[in-house]
This record gives sequence, structure tokens and C-alpha cells, in this order.
Amino acid sequence: MSVSTPYLELQDLGKRFGAFQALSEIQLSIRRGEFVCFLGPSGCGKTTLLRIIAGLEQQSCGRLIQDGRDISREPPAGRDYGIVFQSYALFPNLTIAENVAYGLKGQTRAWRRARVEELLDLVGLSGTGAKYPAQMSGGQQQRVALARALATAPGLLLLDEPLSALDALVRVHLRNEIRALQQRLGVTTIMVTHDQEEALAVADRIVVMNAGRIEQVGTPLEIYRQPASPFVADFVGKVNRLEAVSEGDHWVRCGNKRWYCPPGSGGQTAAFHPGARLALYLRPEDRMIEQQLPEDHPGLCWGKVQQVEFLGGNCLARIAIEGLDNQPVDLQFSLNQMDEFGVAAGRQLRFALRTDRLRVFPAAGSAS
Ligand code: ATP
Repeated sequence: MSVSTPYLELQDLGKRFGAFQALSEIQLSIRRGEFVCFLGPSGCGKTTLLRIIAGLEQQSCGRLIQDGRDISREPPAGRDYGIVFQSYALFPNLTIAENVAYGLKGQTRAWRRARVEELLDLVGLSGTGAKYPAQMSGGQQQRVALARALATAPGLLLLDEPLSALDALVRVHLRNEIRALQQRLGVTTIMVTHDQEEALAVADRIVVMNAGRIEQVGTPLEIYRQPASPFVADFVGKVNRLEAVSEGDHWVRCGNKRWYCPPGSGGQTAAFHPGARLALYLRPEDRMIEQQLPEDHPGLCWGKVQQVEFLGGNCLARIAIEGLDNQPVDLQFSLNQMDEFGVAAGRQLRFALRTDRLRVFPAAGSAS
């Protein structure tokens, strides 16, 4: 099997629960060794999709191909994966070693013992085999669950919100460990999460889901920089939304400003028909501030700082931009820029919006 052949293919999957359509037209190819995150709000269908891949739920239509094998009707035991759930799901009356060894059948005891030690070592828990789950912290229990999922060296690792029951610091620490471990083992991994920061931090590719459908599939940078829909722009990262009207030929009017938004700025071309109402999306960091900003910069603005939110290494300033019709914009500045340019409530600032970074979509509810 060549390296470029997809390891897992989801072909036109759909799922109904009675009259409720939980998943529709799911098409996805996952490469061998990839770390993919299913990201979306509560109820969008990501856990259902993961459960279908695991064979814990039967799809209503469509096919699944894993490593060239049609597994559409295969029961869970016939599929090649390990799974970690949100709730650690360890057996409380078994020791850590017994929990990890649970899936290891048909080998000698000595082999099993060595394998369990190796796995505990892999997840940073050497020497804890004799303990019971209740004696471990949440983060440690989740590592045990990870060791158990990896025990049979599965081709596919499925993680269903594995970090969401942990507190913030442990979560960040463990997600980095999971990513490092995944890279070391090269195991194809799918993680369900509703935490966009988590998905951006660990995934090779993110599958953004909304209301049972895939909205966009892309690398974290693509998803962040080139969101394919207003939903993705809103769901992933902070973003400003500005109302505008198309003037045709890729020019847009926003308040009394005119900006050129080249083809490829998202949305459908129909959005650019003259008179069409548009929504422009701009990330807080897509601005320029420097002493030498040229007068003819296309995104040049004057604005009054209304408030400043301090975020640690940088700040978010809400700015009322002259000529933008009461549409204040949140822009991010470093602390050095804050000092140099006097980014403080009540101050006037001269800066430029990166209009080349605007994403343009038809305004919600407008005909496009
Ligand atoms: P969350 O992050 O809250 O777990 P999710 O994106 O994982 O959300 P799912 O658990 O996949 O969402 O659920 C998708 C939709 O399908 C929801 O509206 C849910 O109520 C519905 N659903 C899930 N399982 C069943 C079931 N067994 N019977 C009926 N409806 C179900």
C-alpha cells in the first residue's frame, strides 16, 4: 500500500436517529500517521462520527475503508483501533497494570508484564502498576487510559474529548504529551474536541463540523487564516465582523471606506455583485502600526481607543474607527507597541487594517 493511499476513508456517511439527521454527507480521507481533530460546538455530531468509526454506532448510509479494507459492517472487535473516552473508564477494582493489560490476550504472562511496563513507561507512569485508579490523579488516569488504548499497537487511535475533564494546566501539559507520543509512534489519530485552542495546538488537520456537516477541512493555519465560512471564522479564534456593501469588481464599501478584496478572499463570487450586503471578517492581529505608515496605504485608519484589555504578552484594544459607522474593531497590539504608540483608552491612533487579509462573505440572510 503506497504512503499516499488514505489510511481511513469516510465515504458519504450519514446518520439518522429516528427523524433526526445527526450527520450528513460526510466525506473525509485521513492519511497514515496523521493527527486529525474533529472540532465543533456541542451537538454538531463529532462524537457520533467517532463512534461510527469505532463501530459503536452504525451509520445509516455510506462506507468506511480502513487500510484498504471495507469495515462498514465490521463489529468493533474486528476493527483495528484503541480508544480513550472523556471519563477515564478504568476498571476501579483492577490495578493500573491489570487495566493496561486488559486487551492483551494470547501471550505469555512474562510478555504481558514486560509490555505493560513498556506502555506505562511510554506515558510517563513507570512503577505505578500496582496502584489502583482511585490512587491516581485525573491526568494520571487519563494516561493509563492512553496506555491501555495503545496496548495492542493499533493502527488507529481514537480520542473522545480525552482532556475535557482535566483542569487547564494538566490539559495543556497532557495534550502536548499526547502529540509528542503520537509523533513518536506514528499512529494515525483522531481526537474529538470542542476546544479550538486544543485543536489548533495539536492537529495536522482540523475537521470543523457544524450541525452534522463538515464545514471545512484544513491545517490549523488554513482554518485560522482562510476560514471557508462565517461559521468557521467565528468558531475558531477571535474575529471582527464588519458590515459592508459590494461595489462590484472586488471593491467593498464599509462605512465611508473603500477596500479592494481580491478574488480568493473567501465567500462566493456572487457576494461581490454590486449592491450585495457583505460580512467582512478580520482577525485582531491583522493590522499594521508603525511610525512610517505611508499616507496611501489602502487600509489606513484613524481611531479612538475605547478600552484596552490586557492579555499578558499583548493587549486587545477596542477602537472606534473614523468613518466606520459605529462598528468598533478589536485589534491586538504587543506590549512594546502599546508603549511606543500610546495604546490606551481615550487616545487617538493612526494605523492600517490589513485589508488583504479580509475574508468576505455574503451577509447572513442576504441573497447571494
Ligand atoms: P458534544 O460535544 O456535546 O458531545 P457532539 O458534537 O459530540 O456534542 P453528538 O454527541 O455526536 O454531538 O450528537 C449529535 C446529535 O445527535 C445531538 O443532537 C445528539 O442529541 C444526537 N444524538 C446523539 N446520540 C443519539 C442517540 N443515541 N439517540 C438520539 N439522538 C442522539
